[in-house]
Amino acid sequence: MLSFNLTAEQEALRQKAREFALNEVLPAAWRFDEKDELPLFVLRKAFDAGLMNTDIPKAYGGKGLGMLESALLTEEIAAACPGLATSIFDNSLGMEPIILSKNDAPKKKYLPEIVGSFKLICFATSEPTMGSDVSGIRCRAEKDGTGYRLNGTKYWITNGGIADYMTVFATVDPASKHAGICAFLVEKGWEGVSAGRPIPKMGQRCSNTVGLNFKDVRVPSENILAHPGEGFALAMKTFGRTRSIIGAFAVGAARSAMEYALDYAKKRRAFGMEISNFQAIQFKLAEMYQKVETARLLTWKAALEADGGQDPTISASIAKFYASEAAMEVVEEALQVFGGYGYTRFFPIEKLLRDIRLLKIYEGTSEVQRIIVSGFVLNHYRSVMPPLEDLPIIRDKDPEELAALKQSGQKVWRCQICGHVHYAAEPPEACPYCFFPGKAFKEM
Ligand SMILES: Cc1cc2nc3c(=O)[nH]c(=O)nc-3n(C[C@H](O)[C@H](O)[C@H](O)COP(=O)(O)OP(=O)(O)OC[C@H]3O[C@@H](n4cnc5c(N)ncnc54)[C@H](O)[C@@H]3O)c2cc1C
Repeated sequence: MLSFNLTAEQEALRQKAREFALNEVLPAAWRFDEKDELPLFVLRKAFDAGLMNTDIPKAYGGKGLGMLESALLTEEIAAACPGLATSIFDNSLGMEPIILSKNDAPKKKYLPEIVGSFKLICFATSEPTMGSDVSGIRCRAEKDGTGYRLNGTKYWITNGGIADYMTVFATVDPASKHAGICAFLVEKGWEGVSAGRPIPKMGQRCSNTVGLNFKDVRVPSENILAHPGEGFALAMKTFGRTRSIIGAFAVGAARSAMEYALDYAKKRRAFGMEISNFQAIQFKLAEMYQKVETARLLTWKAALEADGGQDPTISASIAKFYASEAAMEVVEEALQVFGGYGYTRFFPIEKLLRDIRLLKIYEGTSEVQRIIVSGFVLNHYRSVMPPLEDLPIIRDKDPEELAALKQSGQKVWRCQICGHVHYAAEPPEACPYCFFPGKAFKEM
């Protein structure tokens, strides 16, 4: 049954994340944004509080919570700092290929370790020369006995500089595109693995983002997550599940921008009254709230599909690109409500604006989401309405008149070009409206 009510456990989890966001994340957010540095201690506290890795299945010692619970947690933490939220929840992205892999060995070895101790795992498909086109991976995997040797570079890797483990997508042959893609679980400590300097970013400066280099890194067969030909599907399946969480980042950030704007609008005075008295400001607040609520519904839908065992790919794409674009609009309008102060670093909006700009880019850009959704609409969506040429658009006769006409041997013809309806035993030689020949007419 469709319900928007959370269980008592889900409400409690949300409350716990909310308190953590207010007490631990918020106080660190601006200071570490300024320092352009990840406060690792906040991640450790999130782990200790049981807010990380909630999606590890019970079979491996985890809590076995679903995507909806992840969405609830993410919204709260992202409301305080989207950058820290990216780093806190990056483990879920890094672990997803292990959870989805057909190989049990890495699940048995690494998932219990991640449950039991503070370990970070990152996810690496992107490279300096490719991001959207995952089939264009260049990082090479060469067969070496039963395992592989990795050579190449990954780029933009969240938590790459601090992660203990990494899920790395590579190719046995760049020319074979999708067919060559494979995936591995790599340990940071292995010989030949190195991390680059933190990439200086516009926003999400509390999150660590680096390049990773692999020089002749030997990967044993137990650490293969996907064999050549299986890696591309594994990456897409991972994104299909995790993209709804980007929706949750957007909901959290947009919600806090709306709340800050609401507070400011009730206090700031202009023309002798609080600016919340002006309809122009009230309508902005209404639209902000509308977008937050809509984005949350889409995010929860995608999360619930994943939890229900359905393929959430399309709903997750819709949630990601709607929510991340709606959040941009909300934060932009919030900045307008703040007037000049919104543009300063003394107020929270400019950081939110910088932080959430990333949501339209990582885990598949808004353009990529549109490609996925339009591909679905064009090729798989099942219409309920009949095709246009079969629509009974007859304005000049009621059903009885039509039945009588048909009984008298008349037929009803419709021009498939311009829609003109013709009553006769045969179609006309040419359409009197668009001049197309009679063969353009179809009997209705
Ligand atoms: C801070 C940050 C953190 C990140 N974290 C990670 C991480 O942890 N792991 C990881 O693997 N990656 C990560 N990424 C990489 C991210 O996923 C990519 O940046 C993203 O997928 C886009 O790839 P790109 O930057 O190579 O852009 P490109 O793929 O080069 O695209 C450039 C532009 O062209 C558009 N475009 C490309 N192809 C098409 C097309 N067919 N039709 C229409 N438009 C198109 C894109 O939408 C975009 O606007 C991160 C990026 C950033 C900035």
